Amino acid sequence: MHFTPKHDILLRNMKNKPSYKKLLKQRKEIIKKLTKEPFVLRGSLRNHGNKCGKAGCACKDPVNPKLHGPYDYLSHRYGKKTQTVFLTKKKLEHSKDGIKAYNNLQKRLYRLSEINFRILRYHYDKLKEKKE
Ligand SMILES: [Zn+2]
Repeated sequence: MHFTPKHDILLRNMKNKPSYKKLLKQRKEIIKKLTKEPFVLRGSLRNHGNKCGKAGCACKDPVNPKLHGPYDYLSHRYGKKTQTVFLTKKKLEHSKDGIKAYNNLQKRLYRLSEINFRILRYHYDKLKEKKE
């Protein structure tokens, strides 16, 4: 019967052990880039038509309603509430940048956590003792 002994698997894993110095360097780089853009925005861009408040307007036609727009909106969920804001061209451009910044920040946070996970796995001996 062939099988790989447990310690062989462990040894193989240790070969891929990343250096502590390298991990710290990567971590420092990510933290430096973390908050470059202050206008970080979470939300979804929407583009759709709208109904107005005028009675008898074409947008209220029961058979073939002609909606106003379409317009751009940012939909933002916070807890259980979803809020929507109408976007002018200027607000749309800022929203696009903000969403991009949010996605970049999230990617960096994932990477930062991944590095800390490796430190926890391979270099936990370097971590400071926590006081009770
Ligand atoms: Zn209307």
